Parts: sequence; C-alpha cells; structure tokens
Amino acid sequence: MLQYTVYADLNCPFCYALHEQLHQFGLLEQLEWRLVEHAPDIEVYNKTAESQAELASEVFVVRSRAPQVELALPKKRSDSRFASLCVIQAAEIDSRKAIELRRLLYRALWVDGRDIADVSVIYECLIEAGLPAEVNIEEPQENLLSNWQQSWEEGDYNLRIPVLSCDDGRTTLGLPSPEDLIAFFKGEEISSQDQVKPGCPRSEQQTIAIYCDHSLEKIWPVIAVLRNEYNILLPSSLQELKTLLHDDPPDLLLLSTEQQWQDMFALCRECGENQDELPLPVAFISRDTDEQLELEAYNAGASDFLILNRSPAILQARIQILMQLKHSQDQLARSARVDGLTQVNNRREFERSIETEWRRAQRSKRNLILIMIDIDHFKTFNDFYGHLAGDGCLRTVAQTIKKTVQRAQDMVCRYGGEEFAVILPDTDIDGAITLAERIRQAVADLGIKHEKSETAEIITVSAGLASIKPAQGGTPHELIQLADKGLYAAKAGGRNQVALISPASE
Ligand code: GH3
Ligand code: MG
Ligand code: MG
Repeated sequence: MLQYTVYADLNCPFCYALHEQLHQFGLLEQLEWRLVEHAPDIEVYNKTAESQAELASEVFVVRSRAPQVELALPKKRSDSRFASLCVIQAAEIDSRKAIELRRLLYRALWVDGRDIADVSVIYECLIEAGLPAEVNIEEPQENLLSNWQQSWEEGDYNLRIPVLSCDDGRTTLGLPSPEDLIAFFKGEEISSQDQVKPGCPRSEQQTIAIYCDHSLEKIWPVIAVLRNEYNILLPSSLQELKTLLHDDPPDLLLLSTEQQWQDMFALCRECGENQDELPLPVAFISRDTDEQLELEAYNAGASDFLILNRSPAILQARIQILMQLKHSQDQLARSARVDGLTQVNNRREFERSIETEWRRAQRSKRNLILIMIDIDHFKTFNDFYGHLAGDGCLRTVAQTIKKTVQRAQDMVCRYGGEEFAVILPDTDIDGAITLAERIRQAVADLGIKHEKSETAEIITVSAGLASIKPAQGGTPHELIQLADKGLYAAKAGGRNQVALISPASE
C-alpha cells in the first residue's frame, strides 16, 4: 500500500484547510502528518509590520480557494511548537485521538481564533479529544519533532505551505483543489499550487480592507466582529493599501488613524474621485467621539464614523448596513455592464476588464489571452433573413460562446456589432486554442441556416487568438491588435476557423 506523508504546521491556514479537506474525505488515518515549524522565529515574526497583513492575505487566499472550509482570521499566528509536541505525545497513547487532538487544535486557531500556544487552550483540546490532560514532553518527542523539521528543511521546499508526498515519488505543494486531492490519492500526478496572491478567484464573501497607522490591537474588537463574515485584508503600509485600491478594490475601506487625520481625509476624497470605478465606501474608526473630526470625515466623503467604545454589536450592525448598500449598488452597476441584446458584457466592460486583467497578469507574470470572434457573412444573413432574425442569431451565438467558456475568471464581451471578445487570464496557449476551437464548433453545431453564406450553408464564426505576457511589456491595445490580426487571417483563410498570432510571428 502506498504511504502518504504531509509536512505541515499547525499555524498555517493552508495546512489547516488541507487537514480539514482530508478529514472530510476520511483520509487522515491513511497518512503521516508530520508537524513542522514553518517559521521557528515566530515571536520575532509576529512583531513585524507585515505579519498581520500577510496572515490576513493568506486567510483570504485560502477562503477563496477552499470556500467550503470554515476559516476566520485569528489575531495572530500562534507559536505552534508546544502544541505540536503535545500531538506527538498523544500519538504514543492513542493514534486516533491524536488525530482528533490535531484537528481540535487546528480549529481552535483557525475557526475560533484562539491562541494554541496557550496551555489552557491545549488543555481543553486534550480533554475534548478524550486524552489525559497531563502532558509530559521529554527528549523522544523533542527528537521526533526536530527530525521532522530537519527532513522538511532538507526537502528545501522553503515555502510556508503544506507538502504532500507519496512514497512512489509524487509530491505536491500547497493546497490542492478537492478534485486534485482525490486524484492524488488515486495515484495521479497533480500540479502544485503555489502560494499565489493576486489573480485568484474571489470568494463570494465581501472584502473589507482595514488600514490603521497604529497597533492593530486597538481596533481588534472591530476586526473580531467582522472576521467570520467578511474577508479581511490588512495592508501594512499606505503604499500597499493604494496598490490594493487600484488593482483589486475591496467592498469597504475602514481607516483608523491617530495622527494622520488629514492624510486619511485626503485618501478618502481620492476614493470618491475615481469616476471609472464603482464607488468604494469608506468609514473611519475613531477611539473617541470628536464632532469636528467626524464632520470633516463626512465632508471628505466618508460613509460612517465609528466610535470604538460603542458595543461591538452596534459596530457590526453599522458595517453590515454599509455592506448591504454596497451590494445593491454593485448589482445595479452590474446590470449597466451587460449588453441588452446579447446579455453578455458590453464594450465598456470589456475596456475596463482588459485593463484590470492586464495589470493582474503583469503582477502575477502570467499570460493574458484574447480571442476575437466574428460571425461570418453576417451582413448577407441580415439582408436575407431580416434584422429581427439577425438579432435572434446574435443572441444565440453570444449565449453559445458564454456556455462554452466555463471558468469564472474568463470573460465574454460583445465587442461591437457581430463581434465578440473573450478574455482569458491565466490560461496556457494550448488550452486557449482548444477553447477557441470548441467555440467555433459549438456555433457550427447550432446549425443556424444561412443560405446566402459564401462559405457554408450555416452560421459560422471566425476567431483570432493572441497571447501576451504583460510582465514583458506591451499594452492592452497591442493585444487587441494582435487578436484582430488573427481574426483577419482566419477570415482570409476561408472563415469558420481559428487563427493564432503570437507576438513573435508578427
Ligand atoms: P465577414 O464574414 O467578413 O465578417 O462578413 P460580414 O458580413 O459578417 O461583415 P460586415 O462587417 O460586412 O457586416 C457585419 C454586419 O453585422 C453588418 C450588420 O448588418 C450586422 N450587424 C451588426 N450589429 C448588428 C445588430 O445589432 N443586429 C443585427 N441584426 N445585425 C447586426
Ligand atoms: Mg462578420
Ligand atoms: Mg465584423
């Protein structure tokens, strides 16, 4: 029988989510879960300015990637060493109960937000797992933990994510999707998930960015009431916050400052000035009531001024109202982004998306692919069957393209007239060619009669495809031009076909 091993830390949200997933599949007993310390200098790390931001962003990524796993942002990443030793000792008593203890510790930190370095928390978990509350850590347990640590370090994975390996030589890093996980246990190779931050699909939950220029400790009561319900992001510098607002705006921005009120007001004003983007509500968190500051905040465009000494339930209720408003606004805005006839995204949305995806791909250093699709001989279709039939045909073709494109991050737009654009972030070129070909085939399979077509007796489409790595330069406009060139080549080649233009072949 195959042997599976995982190297994981109790204080890592990726490892926690993997543990939960394996628990749901009933696979935990089939593997050896070797506890390691991703960051042995955790106490020093926790004091750095970036630690909170990093923790929040990791929680954000895990939530997006594994929405079925319960997970809330804890106040800090616990020192996991002693808890790990307790699990090792428990395994000597009862291996099943040790697994249960591990799960309880994971959940104590990642669901309840408790500090698993705290002995009273460990004690409760031991009791709940049906284990003796007395722990007696000695050399053997210490040795096992350091052996595991050494093997993990020798593996040179050097990333704070889980490592899952099988003794047949297969290894995967990070948190695989449920499907990949099952495949791995069936003996298949799966690709590793890197710890990517940007560009990941968003979870359904709304996101709140919280920026404060003082210790987070002071506003923790606010974060504590929000951390279950919303994705929290905690940019650690003003620069980081601005990048976030520019590239991937949250649904609400909470600002808390002690000294830089004027800077924060200016930032709040900036948020209101960007006409292209959807309005971003901004609320201030203040320690005390101060009518002068509160008035200035509203003048700067703030939606609320929250006072820390009010009850957390009231703060929560007010933030909920802001989030509901934002949600309705977004829905309204979404309807303005859709083309009335074809019900796919309109041209304006195309322009916006291609810019956003361009920036995302620049950061993640991935490919951006664009497919331009145009209906063949559509003028004669209109002339012969009439405009109403033409409109019906456009709708059907648009919906067929939309159905064929399945990934949530891919985007179908009506570029104009009888021309459509499909934006594919993070797709390899072979996958994109297959998709374009599938679209072409699906339209032909509709079998919409077109007696006057010069190239077929049915409605067909031609497609041009281009791929660019935005990190290497260029502009969205160049990508559009390349795809257009491809479309032209497909038309010239006899229509009802896909043509690829790569920047090198220009
Ligand atoms: P090709 O194969 O080269 O693409 O030929 P074509 O006839 O499709 O190209 P052309 O650009 O000459 O004609 C596009 C036609 O699409 C013109 C117009 O009649 C039709 N069209 C554009 N928008 C609409 C629309 O909203 N409704 C209808 N019914 N027809 C439209
Ligand atoms: Mg056409
Ligand atoms: Mg055209």
